[in-house]
Amino acid sequence: MTTYPLHTRDADTTRDAATARTVTSTRDGADSLNRSALQMESVVLTYPDGEGRVTAVDDVSLSVERGRSLAVTGPSGSGKSSLLAVAATLTTPDSGQVWLNTPDTRVDLARVDRRRAAELRRSEIGIVFQQANLIESLTAREQLEAMAWLGGRPSRSARADVRRRADHLLDVVGLGHAAERSVGALSGGQRQRVAVARALMGQPSLLLADEPTSALDSESGAAVMDLLIGTAREEGVALMLITHDAGIADRADARIHLVDGAVV
Ligand code: ADP
Ligand code: MG
Repeated sequence: MTTYPLHTRDADTTRDAATARTVTSTRDGADSLNRSALQMESVVLTYPDGEGRVTAVDDVSLSVERGRSLAVTGPSGSGKSSLLAVAATLTTPDSGQVWLNTPDTRVDLARVDRRRAAELRRSEIGIVFQQANLIESLTAREQLEAMAWLGGRPSRSARADVRRRADHLLDVVGLGHAAERSVGALSGGQRQRVAVARALMGQPSLLLADEPTSALDSESGAAVMDLLIGTAREEGVALMLITHDAGIADRADARIHLVDGAVV
């Protein structure tokens, strides 16, 4: 079981720390409390802007349960990517809490150090960006296997498990037949499917996708979206999905709309 040092800076966090102790002490307690894999509370993020600061995320609260999807829509510059970067541990918010509930632990992503954040991105948080960012010379299977090597060189039996999981996920995304093909030879839609499978390799609790289909034609884009939403449901992963396409947002279980960094 993974535990994380609990902070007790003020009354609020003391309450949260008490909850965290309950979660880690009993499995049943964890299951009931962990249904929301992601809980953001009053998150504010600003960037330096000349003499002052620009508010990119303005007091946003939201939660996403396991197996459910939340679509985030909003015009360009409304703070969608900033919000996702906070949930991804890629940006630290100015204030607010970002609770990640996994089967093993409850942790405030706004307060983890870089090393722990990197660990969580390997094991609990899968991320799919606009571009698939694959290594062209690897096969689809190797692309997925490489994820498991990031945490250190796996043993021979672990390698067999990794290969089985990679092949399972390639089946899930409809690319079982393409496991041995180099990704350079795949279509845009297929590459993004590999990126989805790669994001699921660590069996994450949370899957984050930032306009993952904006580089695709509408047909393969819709197929990738259906895949993301369906896979989240089947694998019990919480999905936060950014899109500017209202039709796609309608397929998610819930939806928020951002304007100037705030939920409207
Ligand atoms: P969206 O993804 O909805 O287009 P972003 O989160 O990228 O919105 O941007 C929200 C606001 O924050 C915008 O005003 C943008 O210009 C600003 N912004 C985003 N990233 C940075 C950054 N690294 N430095 C300064 N300002 C930024
Ligand atoms: Mg964006």
